[in-house]
Amino acid sequence: MPVIELKNISKTYHGTTKPALKDLSLSINQGEILTLLGPSGCGKTTTLRLIAGFERPDKGTILLNNRTIVSQNTWIPPEKRGIGMVFQDYALFPHLNVEDNIAFNLKDKSKAFEMLELVGLKGYNRHLPSELSGGQQQRVALARALASNPKVILLDEPFSNLDADLRIQMRLEVVQIIKETNTTAIFVTHDQKDALAISDRIAVLNNGTLEQLGTPREIYQYPHTRFVAEFVGQSNILEGIIGEDGRTIHTDIGPIPCHHTHNSKPGTKVFVSIRPSSLEQDPQGRLKAIIEHLTYGGDTIDAVVKIGEQELLAHLHPEEVIPPGTEINFRILPDFIAVIEH
Ligand code: ATP
Repeated sequence: MPVIELKNISKTYHGTTKPALKDLSLSINQGEILTLLGPSGCGKTTTLRLIAGFERPDKGTILLNNRTIVSQNTWIPPEKRGIGMVFQDYALFPHLNVEDNIAFNLKDKSKAFEMLELVGLKGYNRHLPSELSGGQQQRVALARALASNPKVILLDEPFSNLDADLRIQMRLEVVQIIKETNTTAIFVTHDQKDALAISDRIAVLNNGTLEQLGTPREIYQYPHTRFVAEFVGQSNILEGIIGEDGRTIHTDIGPIPCHHTHNSKPGTKVFVSIRPSSLEQDPQGRLKAIIEHLTYGGDTIDAVVKIGEQELLAHLHPEEVIPPGTEINFRILPDFIAVIEH
């Protein structure tokens, strides 16, 4: 059942001409973690602010548990919506200790202890925010947002102030807590790794419109548009034509095997997205490539290779040291090949 439904939402800010959102429709189900992902300025924060009630749309309707909270004639104010917020900078009250921060909006103050335990901060109730690490501050912000049993929580770039290791740890912890409490959550991020790691579904936004909505696997494995293929993960995009068998794409570098062609007809001109990991080094492989450049990355080596006139990005295995200029053979694995409309 949808908890939040956005229907045909449009928004242009006062004093600007370019719409921040154009006819956006989206629904989020009970207990789901949905991430709004996209580049700076695509409308992620605007979407969150409209749901929270910090902005009003020019057009469209928002429903919360089947009840209209925003329409041309309806306006339920933010404090009456039952929505929790976690901000990028956590927005904790600096003069209040952890317990009072969490209990701020609570009638039953004893709930603060339960929340402290939930986020693993038992014993920290008297600490001020300035006495906590970034990760601990974030847990307090999450506890505060969850304390009043919200129908939905909204998290705006919650991991962006954390360093790389802590970010991965907090990502896991936050998702665990949200799932434990069966809370519906909407995250905003421009970080595709965060989005792939935490989401049940991802909504990729571009220029105020929805480019694609799907599970992390669907978004990564079968991007529908060139924008999604290039924004989420790395990708090689080639032009091609669908072959007679409907499962082969003919390109400049030869035929590319493919499991899904989205029912496009043979002869259709398309783009094909080949993930770097779909190019597998194989002495028997049909594709001959010249290594142009290698970047060592620990668990993988990013290689720029030339196949015919095309430069492609491939991932090699770290144990191999291959000098630039070497010719190696690749085969293409069909699983991660996505066909994109031309
Ligand atoms: P970022 O990742 O940079 O925060 P975003 O995807 O969250 O980007 P929004 O903040 O929703 O994007 O902005 C969408 C568009 O609306 C942008 O073009 C932005 O400049 C514009 N915009 C956002 N807030 C305002 C405002 N208060 N007044 C005028 N224009 C705004």
